[in-house]
Amino acid sequence: MKLEIRNVKKTFKNKTAVDSFSMELQSGECVGLIGPNGAGKSTLIKMIADIINPDTGEILLNGKRISSMKKEIGYLPQYPNFFNWMTAKETLMFMGKLSGLSKNGLNTSIPNILKKVGLSGEEDSKVGTFSGGMKQRLGIAQTLLHKPSLIIMDEPVSALDPIGRREVLNLIQEIKKETTILLSTHILGDAQEICERFIVIKNGLKIEDTSIIELLQRNSDNKLNIEITQKDQKWIGTIEELPYVKGIEVIGNQLKVKVENLENNKNLLLGHALKHDVDIVKFEVGNDTLEDIFLKLVVEK
Ligand code: ADP
Ligand code: MG
Repeated sequence: MKLEIRNVKKTFKNKTAVDSFSMELQSGECVGLIGPNGAGKSTLIKMIADIINPDTGEILLNGKRISSMKKEIGYLPQYPNFFNWMTAKETLMFMGKLSGLSKNGLNTSIPNILKKVGLSGEEDSKVGTFSGGMKQRLGIAQTLLHKPSLIIMDEPVSALDPIGRREVLNLIQEIKKETTILLSTHILGDAQEICERFIVIKNGLKIEDTSIIELLQRNSDNKLNIEITQKDQKWIGTIEELPYVKGIEVIGNQLKVKVENLENNKNLLLGHALKHDVDIVKFEVGNDTLEDIFLKLVVEK
C-alpha cells in the first residue's frame, strides 16, 4: 500500500479549504492529521475517500487513481450516520451490501468483525441503545468489512467522553497492527497516543510533517520550570543578571528559565535560589510539552 497525495487543492465558492497539499503514506504507518477546526482535515479526508474531487492535483493509491481503488480504503466519517432502529448486525449487513459484498461472505465476516471491535454479544442490540464509544466502534467495524489496506478516520475520538475515547483508542491500537491508518484530530494528545508521525494542517496548508521524537528534540532548548512564592518575586530580577541565564518567561509565580549549558548551570541556579532564601515550590528540567509545541505551530505560523 502506498498513498500519494500530489499538490491537491479544493475550494468552496471563494474559500480554499485545502491548498497545495502533498504527502505520502507507506504501508504500516499510523499517521495523525492534526489541525484546528476549519483547517481542512475533513475536506482532505473526503478527497482521499473519493467522496469529493479535488479541483487540481491527484490522489493515487498504489500508483492508481483513488476512484478505481475504493475497495482498498475504509472510511470512517466525522459524523457517521446510523439507523437507530437497526441492530449492530443489521447495520453491518446493510452497509456491507451497499459496498457490494455478498450476503454469504458477510454472514461469515460480521461475527468476526464484531468480535474484533468488542461488540460480540451486542450484535442483536439496536444501535439506538449504544453509547458514543460503541457507535464509533461499530463505525470502525464498518470500515473493516471489505478488508481495506488503508483506513482513514475523521476525528474518531473527538466527540467521545473519556470512557468512549479510551475504548476507541484501544481499538485503534489493535487495528494499527494490521492496517495502515490515517486519522484526523484537533486534539494532539489523541494522535500522540497512537501515531508515530504527525502532519499538521492549518488554513488548508501542510505546515509540518514530523515524528513525536523529532518534534520534542527540536524544541528541547535548555529550560527550567521553576515555581516560587509571591514573596520571592524580586529574585527574578536578580537572576536576569546571571551570565548563564538566557531568557525568562514569567507567568504568575511560574518561571520558564532558559539556561546556557543546562547540565552544568542548573545546580548553580538552584544554589543561587537557596542562597537568596527563595521558597522553591517546583524546580524541574522541563522542555515544552507536545501541546505547547502544537499551540506554537498552529497559533504562530
Ligand atoms: P476541519 O475538518 O479541519 O474542521 P473542513 O475541511 O471541514 O475543516 O473545512 C475547511 C474549510 O472549508 C472551512 O473553512 C469550512 O468552512 C470550509 N468548507 C468545508 N466544506 C465546505 C462546503 N461543503 N461548502 C463550503 N465551505 C466548506
Ligand atoms: Mg472536520
